[in-house]
Amino acid sequence: MIRFFDYRPALATMRDEIDRAVRRVLDSGQLILGDEVRAFEQEFAGFVGAAHAVGVASGTDAIVLSLRALGVGPGDEVVTVANAGVPPIAAIRAVGALPCFAEIDDETMLIDPSRIEDAITPRTRALLPVHLYGQPADVAAIRSVADAHGLGWIEDCAQAHGATRGGVSVGSVAPLASFSFYPTKNLGAFGDGGMILTGSAEHAERLRELRNYGFRAGLVSYREGMNSRLDELQAALLRVRLVHLPAANRRRVEIAKRYQAGLAGSRMRLPAIVTNTEPVFHLFVVRVSDRPAVIERLRKERVGYGVHYPEAVHLMEGYRTLGGVPGQLPITEQACREVVSLPLYPGLEDADVDRVIDVIRSVVGDEGG
Ligand SMILES: *Cc1c(COP(=O)(O)O)cnc(C)c1O
Repeated sequence: MIRFFDYRPALATMRDEIDRAVRRVLDSGQLILGDEVRAFEQEFAGFVGAAHAVGVASGTDAIVLSLRALGVGPGDEVVTVANAGVPPIAAIRAVGALPCFAEIDDETMLIDPSRIEDAITPRTRALLPVHLYGQPADVAAIRSVADAHGLGWIEDCAQAHGATRGGVSVGSVAPLASFSFYPTKNLGAFGDGGMILTGSAEHAERLRELRNYGFRAGLVSYREGMNSRLDELQAALLRVRLVHLPAANRRRVEIAKRYQAGLAGSRMRLPAIVTNTEPVFHLFVVRVSDRPAVIERLRKERVGYGVHYPEAVHLMEGYRTLGGVPGQLPITEQACREVVSLPLYPGLEDADVDRVIDVIRSVVGDEGG
């Protein structure tokens, strides 16, 4: 059996450091908002190249609080994509705003900057592009649109810790950037966690208040906030994993290259890599015209797989009130019908990758064959 994801091989390579970090936190007498969170915020901000970092409870909360920092609320619209799963949409709804969807690029499956204006209305307040599957979106083009319309924007970096475009790290360009440390992400906690990066000291100060009920020093609230804190234990473990992140990302890229080479010439579409970008392959997503057949074979051969994501969010039952209709986003909807994610995580062995390649090739065959 080949698992779709397993954190345990990576954990085994750093077990002593992890165990020491657990002991350090448990013995410290401080479990919430202490030295570990402060240190991890600084270290992660340094890794990405942002001035300020605010640790929060999840990647979804990182978007919610970023939207609040931008002043987005009920009646406002936020432009994002419909093929990046539910969390960005859930975050937009959590502040009472309305998600509006921009079409994606058929090759990269990332937001198409030239289509963002189609979704902008007088009520649009912000843009929320996603660096999907570890591929950096075109932040320069997105910034031009945001600036031309006087909009705030947030980079959703939940799947792209360490990815670069034109030598610039994702999460260092927009006024605000959200990260998730959900266990499967490139930088994964042993539980939930998230972070917001910003170049603005004012945003950072407001976010520190918002994540902790609007408190400053004591228990008096200075703005309506919530409880969304990264805890000391997760922060300490994330500090250990951050040290290993560059090597983990390099291994992901190596596996992706092995898939690219092994699957070249088969009847499927492989991830398109934009020149001058360094993707970090949170997921290795291929596109097949007959997905049910491919999935059936993977199941039979006990090869783990994922579908990210099985339906465009505007068509999901849970978001029916948004009034989405089939055909509204043809490129997005087609992508959702065709995508399959293959196993890819730092502890996956080359032999397993080769086996996945063999299984896939046995069902999709060769181009023209
Ligand atoms: C995982 C993810 C999130 C949310 O992160 P959580 O920590 O699970 O709340 C947001 N956006 C994208 C694109 C994600 O993949």
